[in-house]
Amino acid sequence: MSEPQQGNYDIVILGGGSGGYACALRAAELGMNVALIERDKLGGTCLHKGCIPTKALLHSAEVADSTRESASFGIEATLSGIDMNGVNSYKDSVVARLYKGLTGLVNGRGITYVEGTGTLTAPNTVTVGNEAYVGRAIVLGTGSYPKSLPGLEIGGRIMTSDQALELDWIPNSVIVLGGGVIGVEFASVWRSFGSEVTIIEALPRLVPAEDPASSKALERAFRKRKIKSVTGARLSGAVADENSVTATLEDGTSHTADVMLVAVGRGPSTSGMGFAEQGVTMDRGWVMTDDHLQTSIPGVYAVGDIVPGLQLAHRGFAQGIFVAEHLAGLNPNPIDEAGIPRVTYCEPEVASVGLNQDVAEEKYGKDAIKTYEYNLGGNGKSQILSTTGFIKLVSLVDGPVVGLHMVGSRMGEQIGEAELIYNWEALPEDVASLLHAHPTQNEALGEAHLALAGKPLHAHG
Ligand SMILES: Cc1cc2nc3c(=O)[nH]c(=O)nc-3n(C[C@H](O)[C@H](O)[C@H](O)COP(=O)(O)OP(=O)(O)OC[C@H]3O[C@@H](n4cnc5c(N)ncnc54)[C@H](O)[C@@H]3O)c2cc1C
Repeated sequence: MSEPQQGNYDIVILGGGSGGYACALRAAELGMNVALIERDKLGGTCLHKGCIPTKALLHSAEVADSTRESASFGIEATLSGIDMNGVNSYKDSVVARLYKGLTGLVNGRGITYVEGTGTLTAPNTVTVGNEAYVGRAIVLGTGSYPKSLPGLEIGGRIMTSDQALELDWIPNSVIVLGGGVIGVEFASVWRSFGSEVTIIEALPRLVPAEDPASSKALERAFRKRKIKSVTGARLSGAVADENSVTATLEDGTSHTADVMLVAVGRGPSTSGMGFAEQGVTMDRGWVMTDDHLQTSIPGVYAVGDIVPGLQLAHRGFAQGIFVAEHLAGLNPNPIDEAGIPRVTYCEPEVASVGLNQDVAEEKYGKDAIKTYEYNLGGNGKSQILSTTGFIKLVSLVDGPVVGLHMVGSRMGEQIGEAELIYNWEALPEDVASLLHAHPTQNEALGEAHLALAGKPLHAHG
């Protein structure tokens, strides 16, 4: 017996996270008939368990730090405590407002929103329960899940970001396993809330995907904040009891804390959904695509975290929009992965776009690259905010800037101009001739380019 067909759609999208919903909204805007299938909550990881709740926690953390340090700005205030219920209700209210807004957008654009778990049952069909949704194109956007290590069971005092976001108490001490983006953001929050924090990272440095100069600056800043980092250290096992968790490293040393956050990366959420069975080429669970995001099956596309590469919400948005426009025949440009801006929102923030120095040297040759580091010590607004850090530019000797790397409080806000500089292939002279308002941290970007163009203003050394 054949399944009842729920009409024919231009696009059937599986997964209502950043990639899936962006694709749905753009496709609907372009006049397409869209079905969007979601088993949990519209908005996915980013809205409910990722970007938004973590950034709300980081904002509460910043308020705590500002209160604690108020005397250095001449303000008399005392941090008398942190009410985690209050923090969580603030965080949840931000999520709820955005969720309501997003739901309104999807409803308002005439998208058929289907609640339920979908399976790819034919190259042009997603089935939910007994109902088949047939599309001219299918877009897979089922997202990712927090990974653990072999033998390391999540539960109780050993948690992933999913449980850490729901914690209604502040641990006295925390082990953060993994010094990548998610690990250092939680480390930063907990430290601001008063916990003793130890980060254990298997690679030789924190935020290992960033330029080594950024890792070094972050490690220095974290040391100052008394966040302990143990790098180049591999976990051999962890045991938890009623009172604590103890992590043992391969070198025999051990660390004990109230809780342990496992932040060792996220895997693609693709198993049991019919992808491989229908012939989609996969690699260890990831969905392989061409540069138009089409899988090995013509008409089946993939977006977001299931596609190997940076796991970022705005990459998902861009990929979703790309697929919608490609299907509408608008011929959009494929997305340059290096041009995707990256921000880690710990204190201090780490932001970058383009190539790390070593990657640029490998690509263009050592002699073809020049770099410049502008110290935020020369930047008025950074001094006012009492932050340290730098902007590092990586440029071709006679050509455009190919990498921008920034560390400092609030420096993530500068990523917009940095992204334009990289993606428009600006020369240092192009940026140097543009004015940057004084006193802003944005000015530091202008100053770095002035120096690289051979006419430094507020730059020492
Ligand atoms: C703690 C944390 C902090 C983060 N912070 C940031 C940040 O600051 N900035 C940033 O850019 N990125 C951040 N990210 C990453 C960002 O959340 C992801 O890159 C983004 O959510 C990926 O979007 P997606 O659409 O691929 O997947 P998801 O957002 O995971 O959405 C996939 C959706 O598909 C649904 N689904 C899965 N399988 C099925 C099925 N069979 N049927 C129906 N529905 C299904 C899921 O329920 C889910 O809603 C963070 C992630 C985490 C975990």
